[in-house]
Amino acid sequence: MHLNRKAVALIFVAGLGAGLAASARSNQAELRRDVAGAAYGSEGGQRGGGTGSAPGQECPPGTTEVRPGNCQAPGEAPPSILDYRPRSTLVTAEHPVPKAKFPAVDVHGHPGALTTPDQINRMVSIMDSLNLKVMLVAENVSGDRLTRTLGAINASPHKDRFRVLAGVSFSGVGPGWGAKAAQQLEADLKAGAIGVGEVPKSFGLRTTKPDGSRLQVDDPELDPLWAAFARLDVPAFIHTAEPQEFFQPLDYKNERWLELALFPDRRVNQPGQVTFEQLMTERNHLFRKHPKTRFVAAHFGWHANDLARLGKMLDEFPNVTVEAGAILYDLGRQPRAAREFFVKYQDRIMFGKDSFQPDEYPLYWRVFETADEYFDYYRDYHATWKMYGMALPDEVLKKVYYKNALRVFKGMPTAGWPQ
Ligand SMILES: [Zn+2]
Repeated sequence: MHLNRKAVALIFVAGLGAGLAASARSNQAELRRDVAGAAYGSEGGQRGGGTGSAPGQECPPGTTEVRPGNCQAPGEAPPSILDYRPRSTLVTAEHPVPKAKFPAVDVHGHPGALTTPDQINRMVSIMDSLNLKVMLVAENVSGDRLTRTLGAINASPHKDRFRVLAGVSFSGVGPGWGAKAAQQLEADLKAGAIGVGEVPKSFGLRTTKPDGSRLQVDDPELDPLWAAFARLDVPAFIHTAEPQEFFQPLDYKNERWLELALFPDRRVNQPGQVTFEQLMTERNHLFRKHPKTRFVAAHFGWHANDLARLGKMLDEFPNVTVEAGAILYDLGRQPRAAREFFVKYQDRIMFGKDSFQPDEYPLYWRVFETADEYFDYYRDYHATWKMYGMALPDEVLKKVYYKNALRVFKGMPTAGWPQ
């Protein structure tokens, strides 16, 4: 657990400072003894000496390594990860980016209901303030709900600020399901949707078939639907799995400990539950068996923490592009590797935000556009670490912000984009 360890270390350093000041008043031999490490800050012996740790072993809980092989508990009760909020003393240039440098498409929009003029006007004024030119409404809705949203948008003066994706319902998958789903897809596209999504994470994680078994991502009953995407030439925007750590035990090694403790329903770590690797295998099998179907893997396919793996996936599946929603914390902690990745795969990445929180978009712009260093992510429970800017070249920014989305989703508004 990052913060705890940092906290312990810092409190220890403060203690060491006090210890050294006291030692300066004592004789040199004592000072040497203090610094040599047997008993740091042991005035009055209250803290006791450090305990040893075997080479290559971690210090026991509640202690930190103060010198090689010597573990020490702080003399003050350490704060919890919730309460430890150190002020950074780093003085460095800051370049907040309230508006994207180029007009952006959010391909992963969850704006909530957009069925009244008020809701639409409110969204548009927020989008203007961020330089979001188009939002793809990715609420996975079909039939009546879809046509109501499309109707309201098309009746408004802002019809080119939104495009809408249709939805798939995976209930009752069995013989004949695929053909019916393909028919519904066709009807939804006729009504004005320009693709499907976000196919929700429950598909693969929790959705079951009528016999109670888990519906696998690559279930053959779904094949007619995926084939229809190819025939109709629209992409399937699909969310598979969750961040890798959600599948791991909730212990103090889990870098998403806080999130999983706050939101227990995000855990997928019980015996018998599907594993991360199983879902990746099924997803890749789906991509492989439908090479003519274009897929958009949401959230970088949950490989933003392993860009080499994502690169391999993109190399293997030319029919796949990725979307960058809700993985900014992984890009911002490896800005050089992420920049290299974005440059190399500049035709395969689209901006998307996921959860609609207007205040959070500017952090995306800042990570993508600036070379700023050591700034906060917007949610502590996602990332206990700091962000660094990737300073993407303009040509890459344009592709990520809008050019790739205009190519992948046919039927996007075409006017008014920079060259
Ligand atoms: Zn998602």
